[in-house]
Amino acid sequence: MPVIAHSLEVRTKAIAMLRNGIGNAEVARALHVPVGTIGAWKHKDRRRSGTLPGRRVSICPRCDPGGRLLNRRSYAYLLGLYLGDGYIGSGKQMREKGVTFLSISCADAWPGLMDECEASIRDVMPGNSVHRVQRPGMHEVKAYSKHWTCLFPQHGPGRKHERPIVLEDWQREIVAQFPERFIGGLIHSDGCRVYNMAVRTRGGKTTRYYYSRYHFTNESPHIRDLFTEALDRLGVRWRYNNRNCVSIARRESVRRLDSFVGPKY
Ligand SMILES: [Zn+2]
Repeated sequence: MPVIAHSLEVRTKAIAMLRNGIGNAEVARALHVPVGTIGAWKHKDRRRSGTLPGRRVSICPRCDPGGRLLNRRSYAYLLGLYLGDGYIGSGKQMREKGVTFLSISCADAWPGLMDECEASIRDVMPGNSVHRVQRPGMHEVKAYSKHWTCLFPQHGPGRKHERPIVLEDWQREIVAQFPERFIGGLIHSDGCRVYNMAVRTRGGKTTRYYYSRYHFTNESPHIRDLFTEALDRLGVRWRYNNRNCVSIARRESVRRLDSFVGPKY
């Protein structure tokens, strides 16, 4: 096989894409580099930054200036899940050691979403193990770290809808960069795609027709605003169905959401 030298620029671009969670094949296609080369670069990069699987890394992308880079794409999704169905907690002994856990509730009905949740935690906190704890009808997907509150500074006493939820600038940047993933995380936790039937009678003839729409229900006005701001960014039309439920029903907007969210699985 001929040896092809790739410029540093291409390699830097590839590493940046990989760190943002884009798959090897996609990076290879985008930069016209063989997929094997991309794989080798990824491995070297992960070895250098200490994020090879199976290796424990305690370096935090937030509080350690020399810390590893955050996988921003997966973080956008996990932030959506956290704001929807997640919380940070700790036991008494853990508190003394400064350890917390992140817990995301995942319904047993959607095993695919549970896998996606687990994968996003691994991407955001590589090297830390992720556990699934069985509860009635659902699992808590849980991971321990001293740095969850660095990554989710919205953590605080009381329920999320009883306190202000304001994103920090660095989080806003990530949401602006990956609004699709953020919306996906919010809908996968506190939203759903529903299939409705309507009946129309015209000229004595009755026709049934089916249409899909998305709902997002959350008690926190701040979280609802974050959701609708991200929708606005993508030009997705929405309206309030009732006090705490945002509905996306226009056909082209539903289609837009279908292109990156889709039904739960
Ligand atoms: Zn930290």
